[in-house]
Amino acid sequence: MDFAYPPRVQALQSQVQRFMDDLILPSHRDWHRWADAGVYPLDVIEPLKRQAREAGLWNLFLPGLKEGEPGTRLSNLEYAPLAEIMGRVPWASEVFNCSAPDTGNIELLHLFATPEQRAQWLEPLMEGAIRSCFAMSEPDVASSDPTNLGTRIARDGDSYVLNGRKWFITGAAHPSCRLAIVMGISDASPDAPAHRRHSMLLVPMDAPGLEIVRNIPVMQHQAIEGHCELLFRDVRVPAANLLGSEGDGFAMAQARLGPGRVHHCMRTIGQCELALELMAERALERMAFGRHLSDFANVQDWIAMSRIEIDQARLLVLRAAWRMDVEGNAAARTDVSAIKLVAARLQTTVIDRAMQVFGAVGLTPDTPLAALWSWGRALRFLDGPDEVHLRTVARQELARSRATGARTCCSCSAGCRPTALATPCDASRPARRPRAAIGCGGARAKPCYFSSRAAGRQACGLAAQTVCLGESTPTPDVKELQRMTPLDAFGARRRQLLTGSGAIALGGLLGTPALWAQTGAVTYEPERGQSGKDVIWIPTPDTLVNRMLRMAQVTPKDYVIDLGSGDGKIVIAAAREGARGLGIEYNPDMVELSRRRAQQAKVADRARFEKADIFESDFSQATVITMYLLPHLNLRLRHRILALKPGTRVVSHEFRMGRWRRTKAPRSGMPRCTCGWCRPTRAATGSSAFRSKAARAPCACRSRSASSTSPAKRCSRTSRHCRATASCWASACRST
Ligand SMILES: Cc1cc2nc3c(=O)[nH]c(=O)nc-3n(C[C@H](O)[C@H](O)[C@H](O)COP(=O)(O)OP(=O)(O)OC[C@H]3O[C@@H](n4cnc5c(N)ncnc54)[C@H](O)[C@@H]3O)c2cc1C
Repeated sequence: MDFAYPPRVQALQSQVQRFMDDLILPSHRDWHRWADAGVYPLDVIEPLKRQAREAGLWNLFLPGLKEGEPGTRLSNLEYAPLAEIMGRVPWASEVFNCSAPDTGNIELLHLFATPEQRAQWLEPLMEGAIRSCFAMSEPDVASSDPTNLGTRIARDGDSYVLNGRKWFITGAAHPSCRLAIVMGISDASPDAPAHRRHSMLLVPMDAPGLEIVRNIPVMQHQAIEGHCELLFRDVRVPAANLLGSEGDGFAMAQARLGPGRVHHCMRTIGQCELALELMAERALERMAFGRHLSDFANVQDWIAMSRIEIDQARLLVLRAAWRMDVEGNAAARTDVSAIKLVAARLQTTVIDRAMQVFGAVGLTPDTPLAALWSWGRALRFLDGPDEVHLRTVARQELARSRATGARTCCSCSAGCRPTALATPCDASRPARRPRAAIGCGGARAKPCYFSSRAAGRQACGLAAQTVCLGESTPTPDVKELQRMTPLDAFGARRRQLLTGSGAIALGGLLGTPALWAQTGAVTYEPERGQSGKDVIWIPTPDTLVNRMLRMAQVTPKDYVIDLGSGDGKIVIAAAREGARGLGIEYNPDMVELSRRRAQQAKVADRARFEKADIFESDFSQATVITMYLLPHLNLRLRHRILALKPGTRVVSHEFRMGRWRRTKAPRSGMPRCTCGWCRPTRAATGSSAFRSKAARAPCACRSRSASSTSPAKRCSRTSRHCRATASCWASACRST
């Protein structure tokens, strides 16, 4: 892991820093003079904007810029240190066309706008010619739960009519604000699904019926750009002003909030750095009771804790940004929630300490501290209150725990070794899955429950075999997968969305899985590269399907479960060979498609498909597992694979199972891969072709380990020969 920023980012850091020092800070006093007089300081901002653009410091926040669009095409990770520098002066981001809420709105329009909408709104926004606001929150409902919204959007001929009241709408009082993106309910019928009722309209700020009721002061401070209350009374806009499709509003709001939240956090880190610098300077110069404040231990603690906490938060922010770049906004959702909470709390904590060190002056406008603290306090609400983000993090953690199963170990008579977390085996405790069911090597008389991973390694082990069809050089499919950025995938999906098919599938991508439930497009055809819950979809070539099944030596006795079954090819092919199969797939469109194809292939009785999350569903009945996922997902599945029945074969296309050694070498035409392993149990010498092959050629240590509960011993044979030896399975287990 390299913590250094790449040279291009370092150069931009210096450039932005110089711009801040040479041009922004000298204008700071002027900006405040105008703002305090109640006039938006356009005269200060506009010349600086021109200079920033000429210097190439423009639209730094948008990774997915297209050819010809103005900006730098930095990734979120690359943008983070620049946003941190800009954040030190709250109004500076506007100079670089990087300020909220425009950044979020630009992202939204970039993803979903039609060509006409792009020309009318997106292009002027990217040029910095206009500004915009985003109107979701309402006075009459708890806006942390947007399913509540009261604003109504009704279709009337070629128009939509909008009625409702919004508040805290940032930027609405900006003199250049021309556009409000308004979220409201377009399907108010009681049986409409909660996440499919919302739509978004592009509403010109001068639309008849739109009134700015007031600019609401926040913490006694009236922001010059406004946090406004807006009234929409029979506001009529052309139907072409609908963003995306009707019902997509909720999912699009999720898409918008991800990057916007990260940008706030990046700027927060900068503001905390500023507060820490001020605190340290003040502590060094101010004297009380004959000593500098910096000599008092409590002040040193505040400084030290602030340093540590800022660095912690920065790392968290950078990781979230990196994850958004690498895995997409939906995958980074929990990370974004975590940093949103951490950054907002950090801001009030650090600035509070600084204010304390400053004494009473810290509460006045003579320092930036009071204003920054107030913003930090507001941050704990805007873009979602802390409590909502905590729920998001908790839900993910609990889901993870559910998916991986319990890890508490019992020190039962079956011989499992208790770990530090061990809980004594209790007969009264409900058994989740008797350990005997996955085989204790025949050496254990009684089942043990809830064995720990450590215990599993040492005693219970596992009888599954893993085969990987991985390739050392990526196949064209994988190259494509690696090349496709989340935004590309998103774009592909958006095209579908705008043409009406698969409209709801967007929800999964945006982290609102409930939306996936609404489909039923009979004509659904998947699109290569479309996003799924955890991976994008790339069709598996028929030749590969056959190879995978051959490698797993599927027979009619087998029960093949394909994890992330996509269009169902593998399961249908297995069913054609007489086996039973189950495809687990998150996208309901894909599930329906697979079922239809199974019917067409006349194997629907043997090929079933289930709409489920592979991390939550039960695939313990499988005798063969197939998967084409991603390395980190394979790793997440290892615990589940450890609990499979003895002799279950696992075939993973392309990606390894971490450091597990393979038990099955790829055949001719297939490149080498190293993953796969086997535990030496009697149970593992059953009927499958792999096992019988292992049984035919046991290595010297196999019989010893089969009855032994002692840690595995090194085997002198090569791993290829000793698939069934203690050294094989022990080393495989060690890497879990
Ligand atoms: C300075 C500022 C700028 C803003 N800018 C905008 C803007 O530009 N556009 C816009 O649409 N909105 C904006 N907002 C509004 C902001 O998004 C909302 O305030 C926020 O979503 C919370 O909604 P609410 O105020 O209705 O609180 P409520 O939804 O009424 O929540 C109140 C409290 O209930 C608790 N709570 C809520 N949900 C849960 C839960 N799941 N678990 C536990 N506790 C919970 C929390 O403690 C929460 O603080 C802004 C707000 C501020 C302060």
